[in-house]
Amino acid sequence: ESISVSELSQAMGVKASDLIRKLMQAGKMATINAQIDADTAAFLATDFGYTVEKKGFEVEEFIPEVAEDESKLVLRPPVVTVMGHVDHGKTSLLDAIRQADVAAGEAGGITQHIGAYNVQTQHGPITFLDTPGHEAFTAMRQRGAQVTDLVVLVVAADDGVMPQTVESIKAAKAAGVTILVAINKIDKPGATPERVMQQLTEYELVAEQWGGTTIMLPVSARTKQGIPELLEYISLQSEVLELKANPEKLAAGRVIEAKLEKGRGPVATVLVEEGTLRVGDALVTGIHYGRVRAMMNERGEHVNDVPPGYPVEVLGLSGVPVAGDEFNVVEDEKSAKEVAQHRAEKARQKELGSVKKATLEDLFAKAKSGGGKVLNIVVKADVQGSAEAVTQALQKAATKKVGVKVLDSGVGAITESDVLTAAAGNGIIVGFNTKPETKVDNIASQQGVKILLFDIIYEAVDKIREEMAALLEPII
Ligand code: GDP
Repeated sequence: ESISVSELSQAMGVKASDLIRKLMQAGKMATINAQIDADTAAFLATDFGYTVEKKGFEVEEFIPEVAEDESKLVLRPPVVTVMGHVDHGKTSLLDAIRQADVAAGEAGGITQHIGAYNVQTQHGPITFLDTPGHEAFTAMRQRGAQVTDLVVLVVAADDGVMPQTVESIKAAKAAGVTILVAINKIDKPGATPERVMQQLTEYELVAEQWGGTTIMLPVSARTKQGIPELLEYISLQSEVLELKANPEKLAAGRVIEAKLEKGRGPVATVLVEEGTLRVGDALVTGIHYGRVRAMMNERGEHVNDVPPGYPVEVLGLSGVPVAGDEFNVVEDEKSAKEVAQHRAEKARQKELGSVKKATLEDLFAKAKSGGGKVLNIVVKADVQGSAEAVTQALQKAATKKVGVKVLDSGVGAITESDVLTAAAGNGIIVGFNTKPETKVDNIASQQGVKILLFDIIYEAVDKIREEMAALLEPII
């Protein structure tokens, strides 16, 4: 990537002769038409009041990695995510499994939705993540969180393989997670499980009974037929995986869900991945910290210690952490606070850096579009494939006068963070086959960010052209 001295001078609003003088001082001879590389441009930009973000990843120095003591490892429950096409019965299946919980039956308790739950089966405990769908799975992975050991792919026997079925298969395969297929709704008159098995062979999922390696079970979330078998197979598969963790360490794991609750303060559902989490532990997650004041399981019961592989609701944090973030137990609350504050400071600096960096990139974009304007866009779509297709189509709409810059592109509903990203770049949000989360519309209008929703790509492109043209109109 290079830029000429004259382009850079125009873009920065600095005289070309000043730039050339600076270059000479640095021992570089240049003319007004000379091309300079990105590093040199960045150096000049810095000199004229722009700073450039430092690249590279700083290692977290506070939480030491301790070598695993093999002799301390014990088996832990598998963590399972249920994925599949909308309406194929993911939620119903999760509910049916919840009701199959032996322990819940004894307590007679109603289980609460805390984001994950553990069921005691005859073959051992299993932990289910309670947010169905590949969006949640993908979002967690994007944060580096790979907590799932097994995926249960739900396919309705009367409907067969659908787009989100395929997305789910891709997501699970990309993560290298074993898939178990639950062919659901077999109680329905039009159910044809063989057709589903046939369709799945196209995605390299061949049923065991057909000589393949994938377990495929006919189930009904409604009549509960096949649910005990499904749980048994999950346990069998997890035995093969030999999932182990050391319960004697300081606890560490991931935030599954978090919210602010009236009267309770920040509430986080965490999955303990190693060590044992105890009431009174000092904990840090992202920029938040605290002492574990109380813990509740999915049946609303207070618990004092939580071993690896189990989810629990935690009270006592200083703020609401981000789902997918890691948590660590540290020596004492003072160190927890120090780590959290250090991270907050780093995040703040990074944000400052990225604002300036965005400015520098804008300079390049501006220079390329002949000193014209740039339309900044955040793209959100239902699936990864569409997000990429929309991004490409919009980028192609760029002209000499108005550039198009996609600030971010992702999968899922439009979130507050998307709005803030767009707002930072004075940009707009393009949603494709998706919509804003509740209350996000309000935040967007507060921030003056336009949200445009489409389900046809060329309509999105047409509308973006209008937005680009509007940028060129003089502001009266
Ligand atoms: P999700 O979108 O994948 O979470 O699907 P839901 O669990 O919300 O189920 C969608 C619809 O299918 C609901 O009306 C359910 O009652 C129905 N459903 C789910 N499982 C079964 C089943 O095993 N048999 C029948 N007949 N209907 C089911």
